[in-house]
Amino acid sequence: MSTTATDYYELLEVSRSATPEEIKKAYRRLARELHPDVNPDLEHQEKFKRVTAAYEVLSDPEKRQMYDLGGDPLSNRGGGGFSGGFDFGDVMDAFFGGRGGGQRRGPRGRARRGQDALISITIDLQAAVFGEEKEIAVDTAISCEKCTGSGMADGTEAATCVMCKGHGEIQSVQQSFLGQVMTSRPCPACQGFGTTIPHPCVECSGQGRVRHRRNLTIEIPPGVDTGTRIQLQGQGEAGPNGGPAGDLYIEIVVRGHDLFERQGDQLHCVITIPMTSAALGTSINIETLDGPEDIAVAAGLQSGAVVTVKHKGASRLRSGNRGDLFVHINVETPRKLTAEQQTLMQQLAEMRDEKPNTVVTRAESPGVFSRLKEAFTNK
Ligand SMILES: [Zn+2]
Ligand SMILES: [Zn+2]
Repeated sequence: MSTTATDYYELLEVSRSATPEEIKKAYRRLARELHPDVNPDLEHQEKFKRVTAAYEVLSDPEKRQMYDLGGDPLSNRGGGGFSGGFDFGDVMDAFFGGRGGGQRRGPRGRARRGQDALISITIDLQAAVFGEEKEIAVDTAISCEKCTGSGMADGTEAATCVMCKGHGEIQSVQQSFLGQVMTSRPCPACQGFGTTIPHPCVECSGQGRVRHRRNLTIEIPPGVDTGTRIQLQGQGEAGPNGGPAGDLYIEIVVRGHDLFERQGDQLHCVITIPMTSAALGTSINIETLDGPEDIAVAAGLQSGAVVTVKHKGASRLRSGNRGDLFVHINVETPRKLTAEQQTLMQQLAEMRDEKPNTVVTRAESPGVFSRLKEAFTNK
């Protein structure tokens, strides 16, 4: 889908039967002539781009063949031809080493955005489920109050750099395999700023920022879990010389709980009840994060059974909805029986026609145990 009938051979001033070596030579000659450091005007730069695109096609055997057959190997760049997204800085680097022609020139500003900061806080499960307002100490760079971020002592000004005369870069002529090439690099005297600070602010040593410990009150939303990061815009490190501050990230660690194990928005706990309660059925008062709660134990409840308490689990981040609490119930077999209890037990067994050597096989039993196991191991 070529829109420009550009003759790459003509651009490189070579014949259609030129060898790869001839093409390379031609490009080097043109690049030297059109190099943006030598001829920075727009017209030359445009021509340089076109020549570079031609070289890109003709130096690649596959692209050259495609081009020779009437296709345009650069047409799939959206825009077709030279203008679309071609990074000739890469080609420049390959040929000249160092910066290409596409970079910004002139002095760079001193102010830069500060870095993001990350701190980690540990909260308990209660806070993770219900949310919490918390005061934390944060240690970051803040803008220097004394010089308001400029880095300069009161009443003084920045001076134009004598080495680069304010350009921020030093140009030099280098010998390369292409011959003489003009290159530029950031000025070492002013680090490319174009100015120096003759009288730095004593408070911040000219950095425009100082380290400072402050207290921040943060809002922990319901539903956070270990690994959740809360982003506080502009609360990170202040930028050098009045630059904007980065963001502050607060990484949450949720402390383990004595009773509850969390899995996403579910909470699990294990309770043990006497065999007689399981057999007869009862109501048991258990501890939840929301306070005491009665749960019903149906008569005949088996060890490993799970009772679900709706909406008493952990919360989901953002929606605030609560998951469920799963109460895993162990039934305890009596450990020590008095002589009287033993007799009663034997009577019960006889009444129930339960022989001492009977094995009760229940198909669902393994399922119950694996579900319980799953609940505690699949984290
Ligand atoms: Zn200062
Ligand atoms: Zn300089």
